[in-house]
Amino acid sequence: MPLKRIKALHLNGHKEISTASPIKEYLNPEYVYIPLITQSTVCDKLVNVGDYVYKGQKVCVRNDRFQHALHSPVSGKVTAFKKMWHASGKMVEMIEIQNDFEEKLDPSIKGLTNLTKQTIIETVKNAGVVGLGGSGFPTYIKYLPETPAEIVIINAAECEPYITADYMLIKEEADKLLRGITYIMTATGAPKATIAIKKNKYEAIDVLKEAIQEYEGITISLVKDVYPAGWEKFLVHKVVGKDYDRLPSEVGAVVNNVQTAIAVCEAVEEGKPLIEKVVTLTGDGIKEPQNFRVKIGTKISDLVDLAGGYIDEEKPTYLIAGGPMTGKSIVFDDLVINNCLGSVIVKIKDERENNPECLGCGKCAEVCPVYLIPIEIKRTLDNKDTVYLKALSAEQCIECGLCSYICPSRIELTDATSKAKALVLKG
Ligand code: SF4
Ligand code: SF4
Repeated sequence: MPLKRIKALHLNGHKEISTASPIKEYLNPEYVYIPLITQSTVCDKLVNVGDYVYKGQKVCVRNDRFQHALHSPVSGKVTAFKKMWHASGKMVEMIEIQNDFEEKLDPSIKGLTNLTKQTIIETVKNAGVVGLGGSGFPTYIKYLPETPAEIVIINAAECEPYITADYMLIKEEADKLLRGITYIMTATGAPKATIAIKKNKYEAIDVLKEAIQEYEGITISLVKDVYPAGWEKFLVHKVVGKDYDRLPSEVGAVVNNVQTAIAVCEAVEEGKPLIEKVVTLTGDGIKEPQNFRVKIGTKISDLVDLAGGYIDEEKPTYLIAGGPMTGKSIVFDDLVINNCLGSVIVKIKDERENNPECLGCGKCAEVCPVYLIPIEIKRTLDNKDTVYLKALSAEQCIECGLCSYICPSRIELTDATSKAKALVLKG
């Protein structure tokens, strides 16, 4: 579908509730947990129970064609391999590491002095930097093509409601972001870069306008406050005016998000692996919504305590790992922050959760950016009618989550439409 036909919607962002205070640091958890999967791919262990590990030491590695490592965020001892809740909504085996609070850094870690395409790619790969906008895709892969990119686009749209980590990072670490962008430009060969940000993010835009003056070839692109403004295809279309089929590189673009560019900066300048990140903990179920800088592998329950606890311990609460549109519901708060989890929304269950019946309001069809009829697709999927699913163009679903978000009965429409899409694409 040509992107000109995509519908976009303004949503209540609820962003103000987590931006009142600066990013709070919580870098001393007693235990951290490193999942033995990344992007659903199982990793190979590099440590055993009883081993001592340095902060920044590789503890497991993904060994397929998207090879990269995961690192220990603390120095300490490997104490167990345990199944814990993962942002994918599943229990996953993880490496448990007990923090010795000594922060002893892996002695092999050092910054880069010779900045070339190859050295930056190697450094970013070694540091285990992945797409921190939620994809978890290894970042260095995007820099590999020999043909120079035409433009680097920094996705700062942060278009799902509630999430504010990138916004806060721009306000607090604009220089690091801009330095990271220059390294990405070197790695990709792109002569220019732009930071695509929603036009109503006034404070962050002001900070960027000030800081950007010292950097050549980097501009700011303002996008509308709509969903899904941060969807990669949508953003590339808005910035370069072209559509692509599979990858932005088809139209000369490389897209990274804000936190990824900052992680690239830290990898290049300090050799720092991806062991920390900023996470938004927010929602109507938590007392003090805010952003935290944490070690990867920290349990969300630690942060819930730091944020004052739940609003009402008596009311049933659930968590959404990720944004409210595309995240996964989790019922326990011993969820672990992994390398691509950027936000956790705490919600109080409302009556709508208890109503699985369709009210026939038509809202799901009204909001669908690609003009599908989600409830009809769900019913057809339930009836296993693959032929009709095709007629309903289920393969056009972009899995944006709007239909589930808007549905007053809280029917899991996105889950159904993405399953239907997979079925049609399979043929
Ligand atoms: S997730 Fe729902 S709203 Fe989004 S494209 Fe698919 S069917 Fe449409
Ligand atoms: S939004 Fe929900 S209740 Fe309304 S028509 Fe769609 S599925 Fe039914």
